[in-house]
Amino acid sequence: MSDSPPPHWSRAIILMDMDAFFASIEQYDQPKLRGRPIAITNGMQGTCIITCSYEARAYGIKTGMRLKEARRLYPDLIQRPANPERYAAVSSNIMSALQDISPDVEVFSVDEAFLDVTRCQKLLGPPPRIARLVKQKVFEVSGLPCSVGASGDKTTAKYAAKQNKPNGLVIIPPWEARQRLAGVSVTELCGIADGIGRFLAERGVWTCGDMVHLPIGELARRFGNPGRRIWYMCQGEDPAKVDNRVPPPKSIGHGKVVPPDTRSRHILLIYLQHMSEKVATRLRRHDMQAQNFFIGLLTRDGWVGDKLQTVMPTNDGLLIFTLGKKILRANWQGEGIHQVQVTALDPHPAAIQLELFEDPLADHSGSNRVMDAINQRYGEFALTPARLLNRSSMPNVIAPAWKPFGHRKTV
Ligand SMILES: [Mg+2]
Repeated sequence: MSDSPPPHWSRAIILMDMDAFFASIEQYDQPKLRGRPIAITNGMQGTCIITCSYEARAYGIKTGMRLKEARRLYPDLIQRPANPERYAAVSSNIMSALQDISPDVEVFSVDEAFLDVTRCQKLLGPPPRIARLVKQKVFEVSGLPCSVGASGDKTTAKYAAKQNKPNGLVIIPPWEARQRLAGVSVTELCGIADGIGRFLAERGVWTCGDMVHLPIGELARRFGNPGRRIWYMCQGEDPAKVDNRVPPPKSIGHGKVVPPDTRSRHILLIYLQHMSEKVATRLRRHDMQAQNFFIGLLTRDGWVGDKLQTVMPTNDGLLIFTLGKKILRANWQGEGIHQVQVTALDPHPAAIQLELFEDPLADHSGSNRVMDAINQRYGEFALTPARLLNRSSMPNVIAPAWKPFGHRKTV
């Protein structure tokens, strides 16, 4: 038997995907939930399942399913309210631990990350070994299982990670990628939506292997560079790089579902102020301000609301809330509301303002600083405008786009 050294991969990409992430955290935190079918909802009032444990999945229960429907499949399903701050903290720990393995980590979502380990092979060994190291590292810092896929490109690595969940480890060496994907339906690859799938099907491309019969120019003409990328993706040669930069935010917004058909001005004001404070806190945490805001109220027939401007760029919750009050006066005729939304449309680095033009009474920056410091220590909304003290329980919602680094390090 020859003892040749394992081959060097010219590119080595790993995808780490946590298994039933939120549910696993709840089971980790509360041992009595381990091995049990549990479902996570937004607060105990939530009716929609955000995620569920593998024990629940065994009964056909899925993310996005109504709790009622799930209980028809398994009546003793345990409902747990989501704990977004906790999930964010665990995610941050995991993501920063991954950076011990490679500096090239792209946080893809709250529970998924790509690692480019091409340059780590000399130090850490062949990619299958690094893939095991990733699982080990994640378990060390979180106590939780994950699934890992490794290949020579992002798309194949992501496909690999899906193949053996939970607690999976699937290696597709780059030189086998084309052949391993050949029989896979194109829409199974991440990033190929049904629309593109239809376009491909009309041209006889159902599986990745069919792609060799379609000239790349045809995809490029219809979809531009993304089309070209898809052509390569299907051959196991996705050219996309692992991107560890977090792009600057285009907007910072918070929305919340209110009790269905809310017609009480008082309650709407509470929610609007709550969302205004959340947006303001997030702006301040990143030393940002904004001047243009969208304030929206969702009725049965769609959004009523408007874009409004503050006099000066701001990150003050009360000033943003003023816009909310304006919208309520101008755009709301008492119809039932289902959701409120406050979004800063043009967040930009906070500039030092000319004190001269500022109304000293409107300057809350001092009290905001104190409030932020206290809430950092004692938890969100420990200190809060009085109106929010009596707010109904409004669980935070963790957005799928949430990332633990940079400006998105908030929930
Ligand atoms: Mg996952």
